[in-house]
Amino acid sequence: MPENLRMALFVAGMLILAPLAALAALRAATWALVNLLALLTMRRGVRYTGWRWRVVRSYVLDRDGHRCRQCRQSYRTMDVHHRTPLSRLGSHATRNLETLCRSCHKSRHPHMR
Ligand SMILES: [Zn+2]
Repeated sequence: MPENLRMALFVAGMLILAPLAALAALRAATWALVNLLALLTMRRGVRYTGWRWRVVRSYVLDRDGHRCRQCRQSYRTMDVHHRTPLSRLGSHATRNLETLCRSCHKSRHPHMR
Protein backbone atom coordinates (compact mmCIF):
# COMPACT_ATOMS: atom_id res chain seq x y z
CA MET A 1 0.00 0.00 0.00
CA PRO A 2 1.43 3.40 -0.93
CA GLU A 3 2.60 5.53 1.94
CA ASN A 4 0.17 8.43 1.39
CA LEU A 5 -2.83 6.11 1.01
CA ARG A 6 -1.96 4.54 4.35
CA MET A 7 -1.69 8.01 5.83
CA ALA A 8 -5.07 9.00 4.38
CA LEU A 9 -6.70 5.88 5.80
CA PHE A 10 -5.15 6.57 9.20
CA VAL A 11 -6.42 10.16 9.22
CA ALA A 12 -9.89 9.05 8.06
CA GLY A 13 -9.95 6.42 10.80
CA MET A 14 -8.97 8.97 13.44
CA LEU A 15 -11.61 11.41 12.22
CA ILE A 16 -14.27 8.73 12.72
CA LEU A 17 -12.96 7.11 15.91
CA ALA A 18 -11.83 10.15 17.90
CA PRO A 19 -15.29 11.75 18.27
CA LEU A 20 -16.80 8.35 19.14
CA ALA A 21 -14.16 7.75 21.82
CA ALA A 22 -14.61 11.29 23.15
CA LEU A 23 -18.37 10.82 23.27
CA ALA A 24 -18.08 7.48 25.09
CA ALA A 25 -15.62 8.98 27.60
CA LEU A 26 -17.87 12.00 28.16
CA ARG A 27 -20.88 9.74 28.70
CA ALA A 28 -19.00 7.54 31.18
CA ALA A 29 -17.69 10.59 33.05
CA THR A 30 -21.16 12.16 33.20
CA TRP A 31 -22.68 8.92 34.54
CA ALA A 32 -19.93 8.56 37.13
CA LEU A 33 -20.31 12.14 38.33
CA VAL A 34 -24.09 12.12 38.48
CA ASN A 35 -24.08 8.71 40.16
CA LEU A 36 -21.56 9.89 42.74
CA LEU A 37 -23.57 13.05 43.51
CA ALA A 38 -26.74 11.03 43.87
CA LEU A 39 -25.09 8.43 46.11
CA LEU A 40 -23.46 10.99 48.39
CA THR A 41 -26.90 12.27 49.28
CA MET A 42 -28.72 8.90 49.52
CA ARG A 43 -28.71 7.19 52.88
CA ARG A 44 -28.41 3.41 53.23
CA GLY A 45 -31.58 1.49 53.88
CA VAL A 46 -33.84 4.37 52.83
CA ARG A 47 -36.23 3.92 49.91
CA TYR A 48 -36.09 6.71 47.34
CA THR A 49 -38.49 7.58 44.55
CA GLY A 50 -37.22 10.96 43.37
CA TRP A 51 -34.65 12.15 40.88
CA ARG A 52 -31.70 10.57 42.73
CA TRP A 53 -33.17 7.10 42.48
CA ARG A 54 -34.13 7.70 38.83
CA VAL A 55 -30.54 8.69 38.05
CA VAL A 56 -28.98 5.68 39.76
CA ARG A 57 -31.62 3.42 38.27
CA SER A 58 -31.02 4.61 34.71
CA TYR A 59 -27.28 4.23 35.27
CA VAL A 60 -27.78 0.56 36.26
CA LEU A 61 -30.18 -0.10 33.36
CA ASP A 62 -27.66 1.43 30.98
CA ARG A 63 -24.75 -0.53 32.48
CA ASP A 64 -26.64 -3.82 32.21
CA GLY A 65 -27.72 -3.07 28.63
CA HIS A 66 -31.39 -3.05 29.69
CA ARG A 67 -31.26 -6.86 30.07
CA CYS A 68 -32.26 -9.04 32.99
CA ARG A 69 -29.09 -10.25 34.77
CA GLN A 70 -30.79 -13.56 35.46
CA CYS A 71 -32.62 -14.62 32.28
CA ARG A 72 -30.99 -12.14 29.82
CA GLN A 73 -34.39 -11.04 28.51
CA SER A 74 -35.22 -7.43 27.77
CA TYR A 75 -38.69 -6.00 28.34
CA ARG A 76 -40.16 -2.53 28.21
CA THR A 77 -40.44 -2.42 31.99
CA MET A 78 -37.36 -3.54 33.91
CA ASP A 79 -36.74 -3.54 37.67
CA VAL A 80 -33.57 -2.56 39.48
CA HIS A 81 -32.95 -4.93 42.37
CA HIS A 82 -31.02 -4.27 45.61
CA ARG A 83 -28.84 -7.37 46.25
CA THR A 84 -28.52 -6.43 49.92
CA PRO A 85 -32.08 -5.34 50.65
CA LEU A 86 -32.85 -1.89 51.99
CA SER A 87 -34.36 -3.63 55.03
CA ARG A 88 -30.83 -4.91 55.80
CA LEU A 89 -29.41 -1.43 55.30
CA GLY A 90 -28.40 -2.16 51.71
CA SER A 91 -26.94 0.81 49.90
CA HIS A 92 -27.87 2.42 46.60
CA ALA A 93 -24.31 1.97 45.33
CA THR A 94 -24.39 0.59 41.82
CA ARG A 95 -22.45 -2.50 42.91
CA ASN A 96 -25.43 -3.38 45.11
CA LEU A 97 -27.83 -2.97 42.20
CA GLU A 98 -28.72 -5.15 39.23
CA THR A 99 -31.25 -5.12 36.44
CA LEU A 100 -33.92 -7.83 36.63
CA CYS A 101 -37.12 -8.44 34.70
CA ARG A 102 -40.36 -8.28 36.65
CA SER A 103 -40.73 -12.06 36.95
CA CYS A 104 -37.10 -12.77 38.00
CA HIS A 105 -37.40 -9.91 40.49
CA LYS A 106 -40.53 -11.51 41.92
CA SER A 107 -38.71 -14.83 42.26
CA ARG A 108 -36.04 -13.09 44.38
CA HIS A 109 -38.74 -11.62 46.63
CA PRO A 110 -41.26 -14.39 47.33
CA HIS A 111 -43.51 -11.97 49.22
CA MET A 112 -43.54 -9.27 46.55
CA ARG A 113 -46.91 -8.56 45.00
ZN1 LIG B 1 -35.47 -12.21 34.06
